[in-house]
Amino acid sequence: MRLLSSTLDRVAPSATVALTGRVAALKAEGRDVIGLGAGEPDFPTPEHIREAGKRAIDEGRTRYTAVGGVPELIDAVRAKFESDNDLAYGASEVMVCAGGKQVLYNALMATLDEGDEVVIPAPYWVSYPDMTRLAGGMPVIVETIAPDYRMTPDQLESAITDRTKWLILNSPGNPTGAGYDAEALGALAEVLMRHPRIRVISDDIYEHIVFDGFRFATLAQVEPRLKDRVLTVNGVSKAYAMTGWRIGYAGGPAELIGAMRKIQSQSTTNPCSISQWAAVEALEGPQDFLAPNAAMFQRRRDMVVDALNGCPGIDCPTPEGAFYVYPSIHGCIGKTSAGGRLIADDSGFAEALLEEEGVAVVHGAAFGASPAFRVSYAAADEVLKEAMARIARFSGGLN
Ligand code: PLP
Repeated sequence: MRLLSSTLDRVAPSATVALTGRVAALKAEGRDVIGLGAGEPDFPTPEHIREAGKRAIDEGRTRYTAVGGVPELIDAVRAKFESDNDLAYGASEVMVCAGGKQVLYNALMATLDEGDEVVIPAPYWVSYPDMTRLAGGMPVIVETIAPDYRMTPDQLESAITDRTKWLILNSPGNPTGAGYDAEALGALAEVLMRHPRIRVISDDIYEHIVFDGFRFATLAQVEPRLKDRVLTVNGVSKAYAMTGWRIGYAGGPAELIGAMRKIQSQSTTNPCSISQWAAVEALEGPQDFLAPNAAMFQRRRDMVVDALNGCPGIDCPTPEGAFYVYPSIHGCIGKTSAGGRLIADDSGFAEALLEEEGVAVVHGAAFGASPAFRVSYAAADEVLKEAMARIARFSGGLN
């Protein structure tokens, strides 16, 4: 009898997590590598939040908590949804998990039966299709195109079948940074109103990182009649620079939240108690650093988009939010690098760039749209400048 379950045959390890591990290993060997693969802010968790975590330890808040989170955090999450998103959830309609990632995992595990379909616009965050498969479901990929990378209502309509259970929407999105404003969401909502069986996961994790006056909106807010069919997902990782603390949360119908708590009660129980108290401070404490952080990311975005569009063979759209760009490399395919490597696809491009210039980016195939690559510009200005100079040298050397 073989050791590993057949479920694993359907699932790939996270390409972004794998790349981060590879960069760390290369650095440990003494190689000069710039990692633009990891999706996390490059600055520390704000001090008042760190202090709240330390206080939680000193005050002995180090025991098991309620599965879905301590009441104080549940209240903070409800208040956040109410004030930022006009969404009123009862205490049984929200829960806290170990990151937005566990929210999604719980939701898919709690709802998918073998063969149920999940509509996922591509380019997508790497975990959506694999988590869907892990839970026994079938990803149905809808290809969106540059420069706006938004799924149209017609595309959504054509992707829906009798087996469709979920649509996953992510705005601003990873890996493209593309955002759906209220109007774009309203157009999708019209389609969804015609298909009452379909539920929607709205992954709003990049809500606070938006540019050029883009007004963030979320589906259940734009179309209140959909509220009991939407799981609104968010977390503190990206906006509050708290990726390692592992706190994400969701609001949705009590039946679904109850089922997700059941899954969590049989896996990790509660999210880390100390992190929960830090998250209370994140949500209830000062929010004045969010806008300057977004402005800083916008400045970096401009620098990176300009630099990449100056590179031969690379074409980089300008995103509305998050901290990624997703340039196309159609113009590089079929060429040979200065180091003699044939660039047959985006995986070959990323490999050659890493080997020859020491810049780590994630190849587009991992996100379901090729040939392209993802740059995370959540890195210091000098690091980004050096990385852009290396990418320019690499692309300029292609023949
Ligand atoms: N959703 C998207 C689109 C993401 O990019 C990420 C992290 O990279 C997550 C969810 C999960 O973040 P976390 O589990 O740290 O809350």
